[in-house]
Amino acid sequence: MRDYPNFIDGEFVATGRTFENRAPADNRLLGFVHEAGKAEVDAAVAAARAALHGEWGRLSLAKRTELLYALAAEINRRFEEFVEAEIADTGKPRSLASHIDIPRGAANFRLFADIVANVPTESFRMTTPDGGTAVSYAVRSPLGVVAVVCPWNLPLLLMTWKVGPALACGNTVIVKPSEETPATATLLGEAMNAVGIPRGVYNVLHGFGPGSAGEYLTQHPGVNGITLTGETRTGEAIMAAAAQGVRPVSFELGGKNAGIVFADADFDKAVAGITRASFENCGQVCLGTERVYVQRPIFGKFVAALKASAEALVIGPPHQPGVGLGPLISAEHRRKVLGYYERAKAEGATIVTGGGVPVMPEEFRDGHWIEPTIWTGLPERSAIIREEIFGPCCHVAPFDTEEEAIALANATDYGLATTVWTQNLSTAHRLGEAIEVGLCWINSWFLRDLRTAFGGAKVSGIGREGGVHSLEFYTELRNVMIKL
Ligand code: NAD
Repeated sequence: MRDYPNFIDGEFVATGRTFENRAPADNRLLGFVHEAGKAEVDAAVAAARAALHGEWGRLSLAKRTELLYALAAEINRRFEEFVEAEIADTGKPRSLASHIDIPRGAANFRLFADIVANVPTESFRMTTPDGGTAVSYAVRSPLGVVAVVCPWNLPLLLMTWKVGPALACGNTVIVKPSEETPATATLLGEAMNAVGIPRGVYNVLHGFGPGSAGEYLTQHPGVNGITLTGETRTGEAIMAAAAQGVRPVSFELGGKNAGIVFADADFDKAVAGITRASFENCGQVCLGTERVYVQRPIFGKFVAALKASAEALVIGPPHQPGVGLGPLISAEHRRKVLGYYERAKAEGATIVTGGGVPVMPEEFRDGHWIEPTIWTGLPERSAIIREEIFGPCCHVAPFDTEEEAIALANATDYGLATTVWTQNLSTAHRLGEAIEVGLCWINSWFLRDLRTAFGGAKVSGIGREGGVHSLEFYTELRNVMIKL
């Protein structure tokens, strides 16, 4: 049994107000999480502010870079502990946690340390009205105390994706992990202390959103900016909080992403790609595909192949070799996803496969398992096609022309990602320009070069992070003008 205290000013702080942390795979009690209240938020903001103007603020960029490299090495040194903590909290297959979540979590510190250390400074020389010369140059200062509000689907990876650039730019952070996944953020506190990151630079407050740590933190006037990965409606609530004091936000929010398969696509690769995009991490990926559009000549063949591919996925516990599908994060989330499964049935969908709950071995009966599900035959106005479900499911519909595919893909309030499958280079380029999203994959999915911009259009987000784009949010740019 583990205790998950808060981490404030380099110390682990228990509050005594605890809630349970349970494993999604079998619902066993993992430990108790200490909920932060207003007093802990005040203490974390004071510690982060003091660190900003203290030892951390005075460190050279070279020393900061060295510390972030040491932090990445410390995560790798304790790799197994981080992997097991992430698996226990999320129930995801070990292959995902050990190949994506934790390695990328460590890499985020090295990558942003390198980027910030190598970013050039803008400078202009001009002739002044009196015929003299002036030079202007840009200086970047940290934004300040940054609140980092995190989801549960890729806990360490998505948290360090924010904490990495924030610290590389010289900010201090207060992380609010999801109430579902407290473990790796807490472990990271130990790693920070082990490598000598000064106290107050990284703080962790546990708890919920409204009426709890999330709301108190984002409303706190001592927080200079808020970065969130979460649902669109959470973004709306936090944006309202950030309006007080006109504080900047960076949001990576929900998606209802389209996958588009043209008749000329490499068929097997397209089936494998859509299978991953719809079912990886049990469909709990913001970039996942819940709407698939397939060009009519291959529609029937594609649906049959996708059905076979979904049915070949092994549903099972994280450590079972070859497992492809873990459980959903919680009983509550499964209720929500099963609600959509029922609704699809009620609306007359053809259930190609799945639609229910699998029978699991006795020791995993209490886990939040669910079948991968494919539907066809629903109208575009259906809630199944319009709302983010965040489960292992997709609706597949036919299209005839490229224009129709573009119109279908864009007929949503969301604009996060799309995946397009075609062998025609011109089609690929045209779709790359026409689809209203932040990320457009052609003949691939989830491929990421961390130096590139990441974020969503429409209600899927505000701003872009990744590579040098992260500096736009985590720094204040000052222009200095000198008349020579
Ligand atoms: P969520 O919005 O429910 O919670 C995210 C975080 O916000 C949690 O820490 C939660 O406690 C906190 N929170 C909730 N309400 C709050 C409030 N009013 N004030 C302050 N904090 C509040 O999201 P989730 O269920 O944890 O994650 C799933 C969602 O995240 C999906 O919509 C998914 O698409 C999205 N997501 C987006 C990306 C992306 O990069 N665009 C990546 C991963 C997940």
